[in-house]
Amino acid sequence: MKTNGSLCNLDCGYCYYLNKEDSVPGLTTGRMSDELLEEFTRQYIAGQDVDSVLFNWHGGEPALMGLDFYRKAVQLQQKYAGTKRIDNDFQTNGTLLDDEWCEFFKQNNFWVGLSIDGPPHPYNRPRGCPFHPRCPHFMASTCDQRRPSLLSVNANHKVACFLEHGG
Ligand code: SF4
Repeated sequence: MKTNGSLCNLDCGYCYYLNKEDSVPGLTTGRMSDELLEEFTRQYIAGQDVDSVLFNWHGGEPALMGLDFYRKAVQLQQKYAGTKRIDNDFQTNGTLLDDEWCEFFKQNNFWVGLSIDGPPHPYNRPRGCPFHPRCPHFMASTCDQRRPSLLSVNANHKVACFLEHGG
């Protein structure tokens, strides 16, 4: 279920769906209304002649809808489930999640998929720290010029980052 079309709080260069509404006639971005959510939930459950029904939430970034939207979604699922088992999975970039979200996911047995970038291509590693093009703590003229050396922060943990070096 794409509850907010292609809306996302990130702007990944490789995303196949960002700004999709520009190329697909009739596709719009915007919040799914409460009325549509209820009608969709009713029809989606009623339309599946199986014992269990899976709601797959993704986007865009589904967390942009806010937690109250999914609280309502779960209430509506319970309202229309009848004897069917309902499951939910939630595909997110994770940047908007906090303890409250995690508590909600746990209480309602959501399966959560986190989309994260992998490492850069081995033949196209950026100069300096290989993470600098996507690091929120990037320091110009440092992270893009030099490579941080690996430091031990405790017995089981090493890190290579200028924040640990003190710049
Ligand atoms: S050295 Fe640290 S702060 Fe700099 S880009 Fe790499 S991870 Fe980010």
